[in-house]
Amino acid sequence: MGRPQLWRRVSFIPAVTFFKPAGIPLANLQEACLLVEEAEAIRLKDLKGLEQEECAQKMNISRSTFSRILDSARQKIADALLNGKAIRIEGGNFEMAVRRFRCISGHEWDVSFESLIAAPPELCPKCDTPSIMPLLPPEVGWGRRGWRRYPRGRQGC
Ligand SMILES: [Zn+2]
Repeated sequence: MGRPQLWRRVSFIPAVTFFKPAGIPLANLQEACLLVEEAEAIRLKDLKGLEQEECAQKMNISRSTFSRILDSARQKIADALLNGKAIRIEGGNFEMAVRRFRCISGHEWDVSFESLIAAPPELCPKCDTPSIMPLLPPEVGWGRRGWRRYPRGRQGC
């Protein structure tokens, strides 16, 4: 087998993860499944307008891998738009670039992936309480446990 696959780093998970075309009966509805890292590729390249090199760096992957993810994402979106399919965003091989924490008094703050690996936070930066906990990312279809990565092999529908 080839070298192990890198987890794609993602900074954003869409709040809305299902889009349905109007006027299509549910029985006839087909779905295009966009992986979370594919949505991130579209966000960085097409929404924010970054160069491919920069996008690849942000997602911690090679430029050719980024290009492949982007092509796949665009193809699925085009398929959905032109063939009247629903779009579901879920699954993939990714880890979150930032992790949100909350203290017992309700303060919330973000910790970058790098500093989390180096030294997990122990105190709230606002009130210095040690009573802090990580918040789970918004639910993305399935696999809510384990915020860093979704199991390999499950590739959406
Ligand atoms: Zn606090």
